[in-house]
Amino acid sequence: MEKGSNPAIEERKDSVQTKGETKMQLKCNTDSVAGCVSQRACVYCGARVVLNPITDAIHLVHGPIGCASYTWDIRGSLTSGADLFRFSFSTDLQEMDVIFGGEKKLTRAIDDLVEKYHPPLIFVYSTCIVGVIGDDLEAVCKEASRKHGIQVIPVQSSGFIGSKSAGYKAACDALMRLIEPPPGEIIEQDKTINYLGEFNLAGELWIIQNYLKEIGIDINVALTGDSRFETLKLASKACLNIVQCAGSMIYTAEQMKERFGIPYMTVSFIGIEDTSESLRRIAQTFLDPEMMHRTEELIQEKTAAIAPEIAFYRSKLQGKKAAIYVGGGFKAISLIKQFRELGIEVVMVGTQTGRQEEYETITDLVKEGTVIMDDTNPSELEKFILEKEADLLVGGVKERPLAYKMGIAFIDHNHDRKHPLSGYAGAVNFAEEVYATVCSPVWKYRSIMTAGEKEEKP
Ligand code: SF4
Repeated sequence: MEKGSNPAIEERKDSVQTKGETKMQLKCNTDSVAGCVSQRACVYCGARVVLNPITDAIHLVHGPIGCASYTWDIRGSLTSGADLFRFSFSTDLQEMDVIFGGEKKLTRAIDDLVEKYHPPLIFVYSTCIVGVIGDDLEAVCKEASRKHGIQVIPVQSSGFIGSKSAGYKAACDALMRLIEPPPGEIIEQDKTINYLGEFNLAGELWIIQNYLKEIGIDINVALTGDSRFETLKLASKACLNIVQCAGSMIYTAEQMKERFGIPYMTVSFIGIEDTSESLRRIAQTFLDPEMMHRTEELIQEKTAAIAPEIAFYRSKLQGKKAAIYVGGGFKAISLIKQFRELGIEVVMVGTQTGRQEEYETITDLVKEGTVIMDDTNPSELEKFILEKEADLLVGGVKERPLAYKMGIAFIDHNHDRKHPLSGYAGAVNFAEEVYATVCSPVWKYRSIMTAGEKEEKP
């Protein structure tokens, strides 16, 4: 393929742009182009990502066993108590269920689960085949709620009805059914805040919770990291919603603003710059000079404590080039700044579900010549990683094999990782991991191998 050419097929050309060369708005937030081998996950997966960290809920997948295995305990969300969420339950639909319908099987599954585990809450996820055969999830869940006296909530997440973003919205709809107080019940607001779009991967919620506690702010509940049925029921008592993963939870923030009058702000605790800025902006909303003073002290103390380590890694990584392909826009924006803190230039950046305003911020942040792409595929990723000579790809489980096959370093910044990358502690972990992978001695064998291959070819 010619250097500098756009490898995208005609239908994708507006979703792939190079800063300085093309001036159009990046096309995003649309369905994937059929046949393009999108890196996006399906609707069911999007919904499961958002709801899965609710620790005392049963997550029942109504569909073939394959859909359930896709999310069986591969997420790194931690719990401070209940661990029912770590199981994956499935109705295991078979051919005869597809022909005669799966509603009776679903009812039996709910009855069995209630008898065995006594959960306060069950989510029932619809999958592709359930959307095709038309099982009435709403009716089955309503009857099960009545029979067992617990909340059984359907999640309308048939895989083919849209993109991963549609799954986020399905999860937000399910959450609102949980958060909405019963008719006549008034929940008084207090001085606590909710933390939306935070899934407690490797305990990241607890890191940020401690910072906020030190400056005098308590988290009411996180949506949904380490949350429980009872705490989610009281979500409407917070005075502010802070939203980290906006792609997945801005819809709930908007609904809570409209329904309960709770204002919201977007934040990010990825990287030193965004962590400090987010803490400042949250503290400012409390109009308390003493709290602002404590916040500045905390920022200064934490930043100073990690400065020598960050300086060490920066000295080793200066001048390297990174490619980013992650789920949401907020993470891509923070990563660009975080790579800058390490002296690394971002040469390619894309997301699965970024929003227009996020792509505008990304465009402002990167240098001329940087490739920006929405909802990409392996072929485009490979082309631009090679052309821009990236040393490192940061992505998720689906991008890892591509990076290793291409012989470049890789960082996992997705839900399955087991180490925290948030806050000041996470910034050091990230720098250490980037250093370990980019400067690994293994890459010298790659050049030996490549040279060998070249010699063998006529
Ligand atoms: S819901 Fe559909 S697309 Fe998603 S895992 Fe199941 S079969 Fe695959």
